[in-house]
Amino acid sequence: MAWSQILERVKSSNTIWRLSVEDCIELYDNAPLHPLMAAAHYRRIQHNPTNEVTYLVDRNINYTNVCTINCQFCSFYRPPGHDETYTQSYDEIHGRIHELEDIGGSRILMQGGVNPSLEFDWYIKLIKELKDQHPSIDLDCFSPIEIEGIAEVTNLSTQEVLVRLKEAGMHGLPGGGAEMLVEDVRKDVSPKKGHPDNWLRVMKEAQLLGLTTSATNVIGFGETNADRVQHLRRIREQQDEVRKLNLPGFTSFIAWPVQLETNTFGKRNKGQN
Ligand code: SF4
Repeated sequence: MAWSQILERVKSSNTIWRLSVEDCIELYDNAPLHPLMAAAHYRRIQHNPTNEVTYLVDRNINYTNVCTINCQFCSFYRPPGHDETYTQSYDEIHGRIHELEDIGGSRILMQGGVNPSLEFDWYIKLIKELKDQHPSIDLDCFSPIEIEGIAEVTNLSTQEVLVRLKEAGMHGLPGGGAEMLVEDVRKDVSPKKGHPDNWLRVMKEAQLLGLTTSATNVIGFGETNADRVQHLRRIREQQDEVRKLNLPGFTSFIAWPVQLETNTFGKRNKGQN
């Protein structure tokens, strides 16, 4: 079906149509921006008919830049032993949350590298302290690859790690590390992150515990539009499963283009994607 027919079908129907994978690829390949935006707005009104739009104020805290995963597109991490590594102290993290509280914020997204020198107790004590001292702040902490890293250090399963962190006061997981949930792309740019199923599995474990999660998507690795749609399909399928259980699942979706400055991926591609 041509893009115009797909958009017409969306806008002329009172029922909520779900786009097929083929529909999505056609829209990605051929639909002009403005008709696409108009159809998206129509769809938004179908879901949320009022004009009320909400937002929250949150803060990203990158507690450590030590990482052993070496993603090619990452300009943030430093390998263990590098003289530019850092790990923030509890006091520094508290200080950042105090600044957030001062402006009425309600959530932190705390993510860092996979730092093998941090013991599980460091994470548990941190979450307990933060919960105790900042009770109004939702603690969305540690992306799936960090949870996998903690599991490796502790010899626990990722699910057990999540249970313990939740008991300590963690509210949810940020969505870092999804990038492109397509095996070939992932193997090329972050092979140590493993198969896309890893990210989805850890997220599912968190979701089944009732933790809030976010989904993300990084574009610009040389992937096809079909790859991008494959990523969306996998997120949507998981969301369908989890929402059937009345759990929060993914509560946000954030996409952005890969940054090419000062990382291996950018140099490899001579600053182009
Ligand atoms: S896991 Fe995260 S911090 Fe580590 S290299 Fe990859 S993107 Fe960077």
